[in-house]
Amino acid sequence: MTSVFSEGFYKAIFDGCSDAIYVIDPQSSRILDGNTRAWQDLGLSREQLLQHSVVSLQNDVENLEHWQQISAQILLNDSFTFIGRHCHQNGAFFPVEVYTSVIELDGQKVFISIARNLDLTLSQREEFRTRDARLTYALNEAVDGLWDWNIASGEVFFSPQLKRMLKYLPHEMEPSVETWVESLHENDRERVLRLIDDHLSGRIAAYEAEYRLRNRMGEYIWVRDRGRVCERDEQGKSTRVVGMLHDISQSKKLEEKLRQQASHDHLTGLLNRRAGYIHFKKQLSYAQRYEQQFTLCLIDLDHFKSINDTHGHLAGDIALKHFVSLLSDSVRQSDTLMRWGGEEFLLLLPKTDAQSAKLLIEQLKDKVQASPVSLDGREYSYTFSAGLASFPGHSMDMDGLINSADDALYSAKASGRNLVMISYNCSDIEQAELF
Ligand code: GH3
Ligand code: MG
Ligand code: MG
Repeated sequence: MTSVFSEGFYKAIFDGCSDAIYVIDPQSSRILDGNTRAWQDLGLSREQLLQHSVVSLQNDVENLEHWQQISAQILLNDSFTFIGRHCHQNGAFFPVEVYTSVIELDGQKVFISIARNLDLTLSQREEFRTRDARLTYALNEAVDGLWDWNIASGEVFFSPQLKRMLKYLPHEMEPSVETWVESLHENDRERVLRLIDDHLSGRIAAYEAEYRLRNRMGEYIWVRDRGRVCERDEQGKSTRVVGMLHDISQSKKLEEKLRQQASHDHLTGLLNRRAGYIHFKKQLSYAQRYEQQFTLCLIDLDHFKSINDTHGHLAGDIALKHFVSLLSDSVRQSDTLMRWGGEEFLLLLPKTDAQSAKLLIEQLKDKVQASPVSLDGREYSYTFSAGLASFPGHSMDMDGLINSADDALYSAKASGRNLVMISYNCSDIEQAELF
């Protein structure tokens, strides 16, 4: 169909339109074209705008993968309305309502997005004077996601921000309580549902929980969720609950990092003595409960002081890391190596008697001796001595086992080093009586 108007006429309408218009590539999210309002709203020149994509401009679109999911939805539905924020070059955000539709251009599908700057619309401002519009705006812009659960119908209103937090599009997320229950991490589900139930039945004054929630990409985010019954029927039964969901993934990550730092040795990355002691205690009670033997091996590097004295402290650190890497590669998955002190290490070998452990440690000893570390460009061979003690044969408790292994290590050192020795101690109770 030929148009009665010239191309220039349409161009003038495009550029004169009071809403921003973007032409977008569905695959890459690249901005193929934009009208005057588009680049002016963002504080860019036209040339600068054409260097951008939705991914680089839209704060709510995380990466290309996220965009492609949105793009697939738009292609599926032919159009899509989104209330979000656009970012001006000066860093200020402004609210926009974006209507995107699909058109075909020279056999290629492209998106036309019309973005209405809600800050600039007089009629919109008028609307926001009313309570409901202000609330809608607040729900959309709030940092926390809001939910409103009608218990009788099972329906739940999820606010736009809550959906955004979980990377859902505005029209997605079935508004039902099942949507939320199914998104709970299976290890958290029972605890969280019990807390909700405790609140609904009046056992606790408010509902509050921290848990993991699955987002649209199948990844879990940590949230803090708080809610309260806001309506009851004549019998006092809860009928409506409202709550706020806050994304705490960042602080959880930091918490995990601090926990990791507190329990691990900075130089080698192994469990430190404090955390190792707790781990050892668990292993021992496991062995006691399931009547299993296990062996503990105390390792001390031989003449380590001479490495520091000859090559310096940094070279000593390199040698320690070299040793840990050799051992970590060689021990079994079930074994745990921990840094017990300076150049002393403790290796726990579950389900292993002292003789089998001795064979294993002797193999490690040979491997270490045959694998010199490179210090100052020269190969440096070093050795270690080890003392072994087994549960229940040498002792029944942790301190007894550590002391027995320590005695054996002392004997190995006294007998010339580069040796693996088993403790001479015996527990009071014969093994036959135990298992
Ligand atoms: P032995 O065969 O009797 O065990 O001799 P040794 O020299 O290994 O024993 P000693 O206990 O006298 O020395 C241990 C040395 O280990 C002293 C200390 O400076 C060094 N050391 C402990 N922790 C570290 C560390 O993190 N880095 C470095 N570079 N050296 C360490
Ligand atoms: Mg030593
Ligand atoms: Mg030592």
